[in-house]
Amino acid sequence: MFGHYQFCPRCRAELSTRRFPSDTDAERRMCDSCGFIYWNNSRPTAGGVVEDSQGRVLLGRRGIAPSKGLWDLPGGFLEPGEHPEAGFVRELLEETGLHVEPIALLGFYMDQYGDDPNEHTLNIFYWCRVLETSGEALASDDMAELGWFAPGDIPSDLAFQNVVDALADWKAKKRYGTS
Ligand SMILES: [Zn+2]
Repeated sequence: MFGHYQFCPRCRAELSTRRFPSDTDAERRMCDSCGFIYWNNSRPTAGGVVEDSQGRVLLGRRGIAPSKGLWDLPGGFLEPGEHPEAGFVRELLEETGLHVEPIALLGFYMDQYGDDPNEHTLNIFYWCRVLETSGEALASDDMAELGWFAPGDIPSDLAFQNVVDALADWKAKKRYGTS
């Protein structure tokens, strides 16, 4: 547990582990020298479930670790202070070249990043549409390849559990026509 920091990133003193602010809260790495607290909050990501006119969803094959080579929904980590809507629009443009806008919030999905159970992620997915100014989707940045998949043809080698969960929600909501 708490393998991230042995020493304080601010003053270099050795960190201790205790529950804070009360005994019922989570254990945290803390600096008794300068007061630094490593909260280790879940890291927010934002991504998009992009549908084309045939009702297929856009997936990208990851070109980087973790889960390199597996299919992922386009998206990524938010920049400091960035609104999730702005973040997923930026990530979609970087990774696919597509200009998109949100139709609805699909949901929030908790997960971990890679193999480390201490790297928590909070994944926000928007259901979105492609704006007419966009051309063809082209893989770039973290994505090695892009593909459009019908709801019944989603590949089984998906990159993260949050992608599995988000796609299941998307398929369920499509079936019941909520958007
Ligand atoms: Zn310190």
